[in-house]
Amino acid sequence: MTVERINGGNGEKMIDPFGRHVSYLRVSVTDRCDFRCVYCMSENMTFLPKKDLLTLEELDRLCSAFVAKGVRKLRITGGEPLVRKNIMWLFEALSRHLKSGALDELTLTTNGSQMPRFAEQLAACGVKRVNISLDTLVPEKFKEITRWGNFDQVMAGIDAAQEAGLHVKINAVALKGVNEDEYDDMIRWAHGRGMDMTLIEAMPMGEIDGDRTDQYLPLSVVRARLMDSWTLQDIAYKTGGPARYVEVMETGGKIGFITPMTHNFCESCNRVRLTCTGTLYMCLGQDDAADLRAPLRASADDALLSEAIDEAISRKPKGHDFIIDRRTSKPAVTRHMSVTGG
Ligand code: SAM
Ligand code: SF4
Repeated sequence: MTVERINGGNGEKMIDPFGRHVSYLRVSVTDRCDFRCVYCMSENMTFLPKKDLLTLEELDRLCSAFVAKGVRKLRITGGEPLVRKNIMWLFEALSRHLKSGALDELTLTTNGSQMPRFAEQLAACGVKRVNISLDTLVPEKFKEITRWGNFDQVMAGIDAAQEAGLHVKINAVALKGVNEDEYDDMIRWAHGRGMDMTLIEAMPMGEIDGDRTDQYLPLSVVRARLMDSWTLQDIAYKTGGPARYVEVMETGGKIGFITPMTHNFCESCNRVRLTCTGTLYMCLGQDDAADLRAPLRASADDALLSEAIDEAISRKPKGHDFIIDRRTSKPAVTRHMSVTGG
């Protein structure tokens, strides 16, 4: 079988200057959110005017262009992807690439609040796994962290996702002095429900109301502490993302560690990120970007778009250089995580 037939498109895979094959696209479908997590946003965010957003049809065309160029995994994220109006239309449209075999996985990262409404439909679109973000099991703390979130609604969202047959992974940002006393309980709870859990280091992205040095907790410290309670076995398990996994021998469940700060994972980076305005970021931690909206809108066929994507991939940098310390009060990149998606 030729590469062209495997990819269903022009057959040219996207290989960056460091020989990395780009096969994973994350798409932020909106920068808006129904929560205001303290590490992600300030309380009074100014969001993009709705007129600047790509339509769902345009997002479908862009994603499909990437699939034609060898993307095998698509993650829909945000902001909160499930607050974008009519978002199920996009999932339904993209599911055709699962059916054709061009795509291995269509998935999403969500705060879970809208899951009770959408879990069944997501499963029907061929979504098999979802990441649901949850930083605490204590309702009052949840309110402090998310500011606007409703704990019971998220719990109902997790129930709904599991009832619909979706595999749920819990994502928790490690926050110093906030949830660091809870990881044992969270692991017991998540693994008890058949869910893996991933811990994430807080990254310096976008201005927030507080000071990031107060939030940052290195996962090297967390991991050492976890070893007091659990037997952790390094495993080769990979989901296509940057997490490194261990198996907890006592529960049989997995813990992932996403450590952009203490361990740079850039050497194996296989992904690029698209915003809801059609800007492509080749690295989460760098400002360089390519505008794909202009070539998308310039013609009905995808030749210009495909060229613009190739040009962007040729600029994918070697890696990021996040640092959080008291000498560096400015974020490493000015945009918020909700713009490029986590
Ligand atoms: N709203 C959805 C959610 O919360 O899952 C999707 C978008 S959110 C930006 C994706 C992930 O990024 C979440 O797990 C969130 O906790 C994480 N995140 C947001 N800001 C972050 C930061 N500055 N550092 C590390 N993780 C962050
Ligand atoms: Fe919203 Fe997700 Fe950011 Fe929280 S982390 S404010 S849920 S986009």
